[in-house]
Amino acid sequence: QLRLNSFTKTFDNLTVIDELNLTVESGEMMALLGPSGCGKSTTLFTICGIHRMNGGTLHFGDRDVSNLPSQKRNVGVVFQNYALYPHMNIRENIAFPLRVQKLDNATITRKVGEIAELVHIPELLDRRPAQLSGGQQQRVALARALVRQPDVLLLDEPLANLDAKLRLEMRSEIRRIQLETGITAILVTHDQVEAMSMCDRIALMKDGKIIQLSEPDQMYNDPVDTFVAGFLGNPP
Ligand code: ATP
Ligand code: MG
Repeated sequence: QLRLNSFTKTFDNLTVIDELNLTVESGEMMALLGPSGCGKSTTLFTICGIHRMNGGTLHFGDRDVSNLPSQKRNVGVVFQNYALYPHMNIRENIAFPLRVQKLDNATITRKVGEIAELVHIPELLDRRPAQLSGGQQQRVALARALVRQPDVLLLDEPLANLDAKLRLEMRSEIRRIQLETGITAILVTHDQVEAMSMCDRIALMKDGKIIQLSEPDQMYNDPVDTFVAGFLGNPP
């Protein structure tokens, strides 16, 4: 379980997130959905430890990680641009977090093999990132994020760079991988269809606040206000 309590974030004098509370249950996939600039990425970057909070606490289970640096939080992150290392082959890209941990070679080979099977890329391990399609690169980014078996998987607009057909395919692939691993996950997106089709629950944000948090069907059928209704494409 992941718990943000009274999370506040300011840049200079601008309050971007104001006392936000959010609980993501174990094994759940939560969407952070909302228009550009509402604070989705800021929230995600804070959970992974890139940003520090100006107020509030963050717990993973009963572990208070509020003041831990990113590497000690045990999170896996996939960004919009997959940020693979261009000079390394796929095997070494995926192995990188394990090399940082100084695991032995046999263990690294085994773990990379297992995760490559999970994301369906065992035949691509000797290639370089530039030799892969966008969807394949995204599978590699997912593998690298998952190889250390993190407590939490964080995805920031992971499908934004893909063409329409690949985006559809990777929607169900990401969901499959999340369900197979049972990992607790947060998906940041401004695409309501993506949020509704991939996630257990949706937190709809506006101006740094959560306006409604519910299951997709309920949000669609019973929006709390016209902003939610309009955003989900089901205006009154
Ligand atoms: P998008 O859908 O466009 O990615 P978002 O919901 O992810 O939007 P954020 O990136 O979280 O939005 O930004 C929220 C607000 O915080 C915006 O007004 C943005 O300009 C501001 N902001 C984000 N990062 C910084 C920063 N490093 N310094 C100053 N302001 C920032
Ligand atoms: Mg963003």
